[in-house]
Order: sequence, then C-alpha cells, then structure tokens
Amino acid sequence: MIKNLLLLGMGLIALGQSALGQDYKQIHRDLLVVDGHNDVIYASILPGKDIGQRLNSGATDIPRLKEGGVDVQVFAVWSDDAKWKTGAFKHANEQIDALEKMIASNPKDIALAKSKAEIDSILKTGKIVAVIGVEGGNMIESSMDNLVKLHDRGAKYLTLTWNYNLPWVSCAAMESGKMGAENKGLTDHGKAIIRKMNELGMLVDLSHGGEKTFYDVMATTSKPILVSHSNAYRLCPHFRNLKDAQLEALKKNGGVVGVNFYSGFLDPKYESRLRKVYKQQFGKKAEPTLSTWDMYDQLPKESRYQVDAPLSKLLDHIDYLVKKVGMDHVAVGSDFDGIESAPQGLEDVSKLPLLTKGLLERGYAKEDIAKIMGLNFLRILSENEQ
Ligand SMILES: [Zn+2]
Repeated sequence: MIKNLLLLGMGLIALGQSALGQDYKQIHRDLLVVDGHNDVIYASILPGKDIGQRLNSGATDIPRLKEGGVDVQVFAVWSDDAKWKTGAFKHANEQIDALEKMIASNPKDIALAKSKAEIDSILKTGKIVAVIGVEGGNMIESSMDNLVKLHDRGAKYLTLTWNYNLPWVSCAAMESGKMGAENKGLTDHGKAIIRKMNELGMLVDLSHGGEKTFYDVMATTSKPILVSHSNAYRLCPHFRNLKDAQLEALKKNGGVVGVNFYSGFLDPKYESRLRKVYKQQFGKKAEPTLSTWDMYDQLPKESRYQVDAPLSKLLDHIDYLVKKVGMDHVAVGSDFDGIESAPQGLEDVSKLPLLTKGLLERGYAKEDIAKIMGLNFLRILSENEQ
C-alpha cells in the first residue's frame, strides 16, 4: 500500500502535479499572464530576426511566449541614452514600426492594444496582446508633443529615465552616485510631463528612477504609478531596487511593482559568483572592463546555470514585496532579453509556468497568484485610463 502510494506520488510528480495535488501547468494556463517588461524589440525584432519562428538565440519569440502562457506582453522601446543624445524620438518610432511589422507578419498570433478595452477584446480572440512601454524619457527629447505622439502610437507607459539624467529628471544610476552624483529629481517641466501623462492615461514608470525623482513623482501624480521591473533593496542592495520607504510610499499611492528576473537584482552574490566561475573556466580573471553581460556570454551553458540565481531568490523577493506592499501591488516585469542571467530553470519566457509552480509551493492561493501574474498590472492600467 505504501509502495503503491509512493508510486502514485511519483507518477503525479512526473505529470507535473504540485505537492498540493494541483496541476501547476493547468493552473498557469488558466491564469491571465501579463509580463510588464521585455526587451525583445532591441534583442531580436530590430536586428531583423523573425520572432514568429522559434529562435535559437534570445529569450523570447512567439512559440515560446505561447509555451509560457503569456497573454499580454509589454514590449519595451528602448534606446541607450548615452548613445542617442539626439534622434532618440525617431529611433523610438523606428522600433514601433518594427514591432508593428512583426505583428502584421503574425496576424493570427498577436495583435497590438492601445487601451484596456482593446486588451480585453484581443484576449477574447486567444491572440497574444502586444502592449508598448517606452523605456527612457530621453525618447521624448523633452517635448510634450513627442510624448503625446508616442502615446498615440500605443505607448501605455513611459519609464522616466534609463541610466543617465535628463534635463527634467534624474535617474537611480546617477542619484546613487554610481555614475556621477546628481540629485535633482523632477524639474517644473518634469512635473508638467507627469501631469500630462496622468491626463493621457499613460502610466508613469519609476524603474530606473532616482530616489529624489521617486518622491517628487509621488507628490505630483494623481494616479497610481508603476515600477515595471525592479526588486527589493532590502534583499539585494542594488540602486535599481526599491528601499523599504519607497515600497511604503508605493503602497500608499496604490501603485504596482513588477518583479525583475535579473540574477543581479535578485542575488547580491551574483556578480562575485560570475567572476569566480569565469576564472575557473578560463584560468584568468575577467578584464575589469568586461561587463557582466560579456562575461556570462563567454561561459558554456553548464557554467551559466551555476552562476544564475536560485529560483528561490525570485520567490523571496515576491514574498518580501507582498509583505511590504500587499498582494494587490505586486506584478511581473521579467526584463527578458534585457538581462544576461535569469534564475535557474527560468531562462526564457517559455519557462514562466515554473513561477506559478514556485508560488503554489510557497502556499499562495490561486486567486493571489492570478493577481501577481497579471490582474494587478491590468488594474492600474485601467485606473490610469480613468
Ligand atoms: Zn530596464
């Protein structure tokens, strides 16, 4: 009898049943899954790769989005703000052109939504919903007209900064002193941009934003804000993560934080582990000029797994964020294709069901997983449109 039960138990595990006797894959399929941040435009679409086919590079394509059960994917329009001092608005438009072209080539699989109502109607067709998020205020080139034009083309959020300060706003990389201290927050023009975004129903995204900027936005905005792809500073003290006081302010504001899958924002030991494994692999230390991206890129697949953060770290951040801001204010912003390393086993979008499995194993109710995996993001999108 015991042996039979054991065999039954092993069979259930083999079929993908969780310890609770629920099929996590089925539960995941039934969820409305929203990923609030992905960089596949820059990684694959813009260089001309056909993401309608399964690619053997990158973390995202339509077949893998389907496998991952992704219903709504936010595509980040991004431009390196050190490089695009001028022409960034044009470059943003070229990226939206490329996204539209990709969507037009895959009309049975994916469609672009410019509003919550359009998201809802596309969801009924079973297609993947594409949403645009502009990552970097540099792309409006300080112009309110450009902001409105990008919103008209479908941009549902604007991440105010990337890693450099702009004339109207300062970023986390610079405010934290990592790239030259400057701590100015929002200027009057910056505040006017926030009010315009509120009026348009466009989400203000504070990922990459400096702390001064964060609190200036909180004092200016009349709508709930988004932090699309950032984690808890308490668990991983990186300037891209949110401190406890910021999480408290976010909770008061009614906003949402999307958990980022980057090993370096999840696990404070990631970079030292990467350097150690790099040295073991090549018998020499990495050049100081080599980025984590390049180091990781040179490693063979087996060594990469050793370097990736354990999946438990991602779950720890979700637990912590939920504890701090509440179940209604945590979402997912994977940052796939913008990061070199994701947690072990979660290396591309097709592996997203493993996150649902992990949450079930940590005791989250299905209704709460549904909020984190998509409903919270859609709620603030809708609240911003009102
Ligand atoms: Zn980013």
